[in-house]
Amino acid sequence: MVKVDITIVGGGMVGLALAAQLKSSGLSIAVINNRPIARALPNITESRVSAINVASQAMLEKVGAWALLQSERFCPYTGMQVWEQDSFAKISFATEQTGQQCLGTIVENQNIVNALYQVVSQQANVKLLENCQIERIHYSDDEAILTYNNGELLTTRLLIGADGAESQVRKSKQIPLTFWSYDQQAIVATINTEKTHDNIARQAFTPFGPLAFLPLNEPHQCSIVWSQDTERASELMALDEQQFTQQLAVASDMQLGPCQLANQRVSIPLTMRYAREWLNGPVVLVGDAAHTIHPLAGQGVNLGFQDTVMLAESLNNLGAGQLSDRRVLRAYERSRKAEAAKMIATMEGFKQLFSGRDPVKKLIRGIGMRAVNDMPMVKQRLIEQAMGL
Ligand SMILES: Cc1cc2nc3c(=O)[nH]c(=O)nc-3n(C[C@H](O)[C@H](O)[C@H](O)COP(=O)(O)OP(=O)(O)OC[C@H]3O[C@@H](n4cnc5c(N)ncnc54)[C@H](O)[C@@H]3O)c2cc1C
Repeated sequence: MVKVDITIVGGGMVGLALAAQLKSSGLSIAVINNRPIARALPNITESRVSAINVASQAMLEKVGAWALLQSERFCPYTGMQVWEQDSFAKISFATEQTGQQCLGTIVENQNIVNALYQVVSQQANVKLLENCQIERIHYSDDEAILTYNNGELLTTRLLIGADGAESQVRKSKQIPLTFWSYDQQAIVATINTEKTHDNIARQAFTPFGPLAFLPLNEPHQCSIVWSQDTERASELMALDEQQFTQQLAVASDMQLGPCQLANQRVSIPLTMRYAREWLNGPVVLVGDAAHTIHPLAGQGVNLGFQDTVMLAESLNNLGAGQLSDRRVLRAYERSRKAEAAKMIATMEGFKQLFSGRDPVKKLIRGIGMRAVNDMPMVKQRLIEQAMGL
């Protein structure tokens, strides 16, 4: 039987980031992932990318992962443009308003996983268990006992669920979940564009949902996240490549000219999830296991990374001797649940505000966006929030 202080289930971006921040904690850690964790990146930029904000970058720098990213594959962006399709509503942000070198960086998720994997696999206090299927989790008051596919047993004092939206850990404790479908699917793909993106992240609000163009390292290449009402998304997925890219160019008001697909489109259903308990017995939840939000503001993993910052700080302070003291972990739960709830409400507000074709609502949106665009203080506050500062 293996005995550890902490087991992190999930070796994705969030689980690995947590393990990396516990290097000097004096705690013994197992990280369990149901698949191999690191893998080579394909030639064409993958369509699963994230806009990493300045706060998340700082955390990744601190643990030594940022320097290990394949930098020829990521793209810092220095401007942001948000507008409503077929409208005068427009707002733009630039680095000059922030005193930072960039507003954020677009990075492939797997690039981040690979870099964090390099960091964590060097840590003497971490045992990585890959391709490992958990068969059963048995709980006592102050520990969890896991049985996994090779028949071994693992006893752990804390069990951290970093195993994503369908978290096995969350389900094993029957933690109640508030959830609703956004009734939208996000179509993601890498595209080549006629015009250069000029390191600007763009987002158009269309009557069926938002469309983001995230700049990639190649000046004529972007990653798209096209969130559309479910029926409309199915129609778009059914189109052939040429029809699809024509629709894409129209929806973006031709901002980047005609475009072509560089890899396969993938459609992902969007669901809001909010676990009602993030601490239950020896279980603690982080990242998508605790919350999932609409990708329209590109904040999901940034929120998850900030969970890990606070949780790691708590665990580093507690050390092995005080792991059973739940007060500090309760503070983590309270604080991060409040942040997630705020973000969920903000995303819902944005989604409601920009949905539909009602001309009065559209006029108000237009006036509002133009007004905000002319208010430097308000704009600065908005951009600082997005950057996680
Ligand atoms: C279309 C789209 C665009 C997005 N864009 C952005 C963006 O621009 N910026 C941003 O901040 N966020 C973005 N997000 C959100 C972001 O992708 C997620 O928040 C992030 O991937 C969550 O990371 P995670 O490590 O918590 O979970 P996951 O990435 O789901 O990782 C979970 C890990 O656990 C493993 N696992 C699962 N089940 C088990 C099990 N039973 N046992 C062992 N291991 C298990 C998996 O193999 C995986 O390695 C976007 C999301 C979507 C859908």
